[in-house]
Amino acid sequence: MKDYQWILGFVLLTLSSNAFAESMVGVPGDIALQRLVEGNIRFREGKAKRPNQSQERIREVSKRQFPFATIIGCSDSRVPNEIVFDQGLGDLFIVRTAGQVSTYASWGSIEFSVAVLGVNLVVVLGHSNCGAVDAACKSNDVPGHIITLTNAIKPAAEKTKHLQGDWLQNAVKANVALQVTSLRKLDPILSKLYNSGKILIVGAVYDLDTGKVSFLDEDYILSISK
Ligand SMILES: [Zn+2]
Repeated sequence: MKDYQWILGFVLLTLSSNAFAESMVGVPGDIALQRLVEGNIRFREGKAKRPNQSQERIREVSKRQFPFATIIGCSDSRVPNEIVFDQGLGDLFIVRTAGQVSTYASWGSIEFSVAVLGVNLVVVLGHSNCGAVDAACKSNDVPGHIITLTNAIKPAAEKTKHLQGDWLQNAVKANVALQVTSLRKLDPILSKLYNSGKILIVGAVYDLDTGKVSFLDEDYILSISK
């Protein structure tokens, strides 16, 4: 199987298509991050280009995908990832659950994106006024499987309970930071690629009021994860 993959990789690399060539090596994490930052600026300033949504693009990605970033986002209907980053078909590999809580199926999906599709940037994207985080702050009694979400978010709620400022917004930010730290430590694939500097794993919060995505400082991520 491995031999087959190498042969396939060689064939694709020899094709003249930049897109295919790019897919085999992957877009560097820092360049991918810059694409997202610029796309969000276009979106929130009303200058969205809505790229890669043509009929030609449909055909281009029909046989193979080559996303340049993986987004771990909240399911909230107000944070559609391709729209807020002004991207199109085949650009973003997205895993969405309420409160962007990751468990086994999500982890496998993220690993697939970096190990097989060659993605070098993983972004955990929370958002202001997240209902899942709010539930984790307020309630110990939620119905059904929703408890899976609130239990996973509770550590962020607890860490921010006595901080100054708005508890919910602080918890949203802390939740993202803790999720970033967890993914950086996730064995066997993400931890190895992150520690070797092959991939970036960063956190960000989307503001429902302004449309702005703010990326978290590394110092903040490290401090909240102690
Ligand atoms: Zn949410």
